Amino acid sequence: MKAFTLEEIKGAGWLKEANYIAGEWVAADDGRTYDVADPATEIRIGTIPWVGVSETRRAIDAAQTAFNDWSMTTAVERADKLHRMAQLVRDNLDILAEMLTLEQGKPLAEAKGEMKLGADYIQWFAEEARRINGEIIPSPWKDRQILVIREPVGVVGAITPWNFPFSMLSRKVAPALAAGCTIVIKPSEFTPFCGLLYGVLAEKVGIPAGVVNVVTGEAAAIGAELTQSPIVRKITFTGSTRVGKLLYGQSADTMKKLSMELGGNAPTIIFDDADLDLAVENATVGKFRNSGQTCICTNRFYVQDGVYDEFARRLTERVQKLKVANGFDEGAEQGPLINSAAIAKVELHVADAKTKGGRVLTGGKRHELGATFFEPTVIVDAKPDMLIAHEETFGPIAALFRFKDEQEGIDAANSTEFGLASYFFTRDVARIFRVSRALQSGMVGVNAGVITTSEVPFGGVKDSGIGREGSAHGIEEYLNLKYINLAGL
Ligand code: ADP
Repeated sequence: MKAFTLEEIKGAGWLKEANYIAGEWVAADDGRTYDVADPATEIRIGTIPWVGVSETRRAIDAAQTAFNDWSMTTAVERADKLHRMAQLVRDNLDILAEMLTLEQGKPLAEAKGEMKLGADYIQWFAEEARRINGEIIPSPWKDRQILVIREPVGVVGAITPWNFPFSMLSRKVAPALAAGCTIVIKPSEFTPFCGLLYGVLAEKVGIPAGVVNVVTGEAAAIGAELTQSPIVRKITFTGSTRVGKLLYGQSADTMKKLSMELGGNAPTIIFDDADLDLAVENATVGKFRNSGQTCICTNRFYVQDGVYDEFARRLTERVQKLKVANGFDEGAEQGPLINSAAIAKVELHVADAKTKGGRVLTGGKRHELGATFFEPTVIVDAKPDMLIAHEETFGPIAALFRFKDEQEGIDAANSTEFGLASYFFTRDVARIFRVSRALQSGMVGVNAGVITTSEVPFGGVKDSGIGREGSAHGIEEYLNLKYINLAGL
């Protein structure tokens, strides 16, 4: 239930309608703005700057200037600021979660979960800041020492999507800052406030001007400036494979370090020997969380012949109980999709499945609640030639494909250019090891549908990207190794 009005959120200083550059809250040079709407009601919640090349360049310059001092701070100083940032988020969880639901639409309980997860990532990297250790390697020369130190890469450009507007950035901003880097953030145009929030948090915990900068506006212009600038040494991107490849290409001339967390087309395999209750519960959460708008949501369910009909029946029963509602309503389990384009894609996938022999067991159409709401949907008799088999639907549709033996299930799961997350359900220990190894993805959930936490390396293979976020590995993305050879000792 909503506890704060929009005016209260703005009045408390959390929701900023300006960009944060060099420690100042500023407008676009030409004064251009754009409106941001609540996806559930399509009512305007704020108006923010629409910036382009010149403002981005200033943000990059500010980050470069700030890098000189920030990179020379001690790990303890950086850790302290990040610990305080995590605490600030936790202390204001309720109001910040409301801001998230307001701009993104997800149920308030999920928004709180995302805010907590974001605070966890920030804390995790505050802790990692103090473990950026070097190495001394046994020297092949009698009179020399070989040292290896880890240094911050420099100015970082971060571009993020709208589905997890706060936590996606936490696993980029926190390791960057922990490593001693400075950063220019470009959040999604649909959910800018949780991105601008990093400016608010940085200011409140006393992070020096220019260390964190946030710009909002014309994606292509900002992206071009970030990728082509020789000052920016690293791009970290989460979003579509199409834009990821574009940014990868644009970064080639300046030879940047890159992290790309791109699209997924996650399979979930239900084997005949699965615990079906467990599978149904996890499949429901793993599929319908955030209305199916996560890059690790199951897009394709492969269900073995022996349990296909039973799984379809139980999943349908469970899905019919999901409460579709405005994210602020008590007990809401599925909110709106982000906008009408997202609804159009879901409708296209359903229509395509129907023309190719798919049967809709429940849902299949827009929800009566409003233009951006869609009914939780289960489709059986899914086939490999359907759009849903190849493209990320990013919506609340569970499509069930049938398979006969283990190898067929694995081959079908791997028959995609993506490789982010995979899931499977079985009680056979030998099969757990076999299938875990055979699946071509960066992450595997075994008898689990939710696998994200700050302790683990999150990331994909194939067209799902490069690099890992979170875990002890996540900070390496923001560090360069330097080898020092000390002679004449
Ligand atoms: P999604 O489908 O998840 O929104 P996108 O890849 O379209 O994925 O968007 C992710 C982020 O990439 C957003 O912040 C968006 O503004 C940004 N973006 C989109 N096009 C470009 C571009 N040409 N250059 C840089 N960033 C872009």
